Amino acid sequence: MRILVIEDDSQIRRFLRATLTNQGYRLLEAINAQDGMNQVALRHPDLIILDLGLPDKDGLEVTRALREWTSTPIIVLSARDQEGDKIAALDAGADDYLTKPFGTGELLARMRVALRHAIRAAQGSDDPVFTAGDLRVDLAHRQIFVGEREVHLTPI
Ligand code: CA
Repeated sequence: MRILVIEDDSQIRRFLRATLTNQGYRLLEAINAQDGMNQVALRHPDLIILDLGLPDKDGLEVTRALREWTSTPIIVLSARDQEGDKIAALDAGADDYLTKPFGTGELLARMRVALRHAIRAAQGSDDPVFTAGDLRVDLAHRQIFVGEREVHLTPI
């Protein structure tokens, strides 16, 4: 399982790196929103841990942008003074949240729940495919077809 951590706080990244690699997860790290969103597109993590207070963009905006094309589970990290943002993040499509500081046990349990839901959802529903005339856009597999012909696009 690949976990992408989008967090500018190096101490929290270090904590997550130690905890998650110790549990057998593979860790991807991004220190700002732009890099984080690029990594979601290029490296297809199984779960995203997203800090709400990022230097270049609000975690809320990141959640909304990601939810336009991916259902990868998102757990948001919020500080105590971001109560409103936390609720907004859930409404924007985040799956769960943790308030800093959080413990290892709670983090891992919430990750397990989010991953379980994601697997169940993937089994229970067809992958999203958008069609219009000859155009077919397979969002989950990132493939575009016109008629039978696949159209090549760059990853981003
Ligand atoms: Ca932060």
